[in-house]
Amino acid sequence: MLDYQVVLNSRPRKNGEPVPENFRVEEACLPADLNPGHVQVRTLYLSVDPYMRCRMNEDTGTDYLSPWQLSEVVEGGGVGIVEDSRHDSFTEGDTVASFSWPWQTQAVLEGKLLQKLDPQLVDGRHSYFLGAVGMPGLTALLGVREKGHVTPGANQTMVVSGAAGACGSLAGQIGRLDGCSKVVGICGSDEKCHVLVSDLGFNSAINYKRQDVAARLRESCPTGVDVYFDNVGGSISDTVIAQMTEGGHVILCGQISQYNKDVPYPPPLPASTQEVLHTKHITRERFTVLNYTEKHEAGLLQLSQWVREGKLKVLETVVKGLDNMGVAFHSMMKGGNVGKQIVQVSE
Ligand code: NDP
Repeated sequence: MLDYQVVLNSRPRKNGEPVPENFRVEEACLPADLNPGHVQVRTLYLSVDPYMRCRMNEDTGTDYLSPWQLSEVVEGGGVGIVEDSRHDSFTEGDTVASFSWPWQTQAVLEGKLLQKLDPQLVDGRHSYFLGAVGMPGLTALLGVREKGHVTPGANQTMVVSGAAGACGSLAGQIGRLDGCSKVVGICGSDEKCHVLVSDLGFNSAINYKRQDVAARLRESCPTGVDVYFDNVGGSISDTVIAQMTEGGHVILCGQISQYNKDVPYPPPLPASTQEVLHTKHITRERFTVLNYTEKHEAGLLQLSQWVREGKLKVLETVVKGLDNMGVAFHSMMKGGNVGKQIVQVSE
């Protein structure tokens, strides 16, 4: 079987948007023999994620991400099946995942980079390991629990930006499951707003591209915003923070509206927003899912249980083919996805 890989073809311009042509597909070559400790895998699904935009730059702007190198294989979250193993923990047929999965149809990885997974956790829907029962699910769950201060019975209103995306669609549902009395989503299309309210149980949803966010927030959150799960930053977040209650909590998950700009992370806030945070004693702590690895196993079990019980609804946008990695990444960055953007590489 021929093996293919995706390499970084070019970097976006400074302060520029990524394009699918930043990536290129090439034929790849698997080593003839496996070295001890290595595992050969067939790729089922690959993930495209906003943080990858930073890896496209020569300088990622953060200390925990390294830049992808030009003409080198791109890597990220992936899930697949073991085909051959010279590592004691893995045998042929195992389902495995990694945060460092090369964008390749088949690949050889060091066993220590792989995590063995039980497909029963997702009822055989392996792509969920990249979404609701994977990193985005953990981000939503642990973000809410570590930084949200959600208290059952406290009549809290939660607002989620990027609400129809991988993390946001789960964060709003988890806010409700954990005890918020009202959950409002902000996202970029009427179709997404409809899905949030009709399918995921959000109380209301705001289309930031078409509606007056401040006015719609005043309507839908008349007592103010107690918890804000922030995926986007920028002017949307300034508008939400301006309507937060005394002692409220911002979960600083991501700032995607600023990722094409050459600014450090987290990007600086306007003085007026800083003033609101200060005078209303609102917490706004940075959240990073990778800082809570000791809580990942229990978190995945919780997420899997909710999904199987039907309490947590899962949205995915799946495109097929390794040659569509660049298209899928570009589309996700522009809002083309509803729920988790996935690329299916093989059956
Ligand atoms: P999503 O599935 O939410 O996809 C990205 C979405 O961002 C798009 O669908 C689009 O939706 C929205 N978007 C794009 N540009 C803008 C803009 N200028 N203003 C507002 N919204 C925009 O991605 P993820 O769920 O994977 O990630 C969401 C956020 O969470 C990101 O900021 C990411 O960096 C962060 N993250 C943080 C982690 C952590 O540990 N802290 C871990 C994982 C993710 P729309 O149609 O609504 O515009």
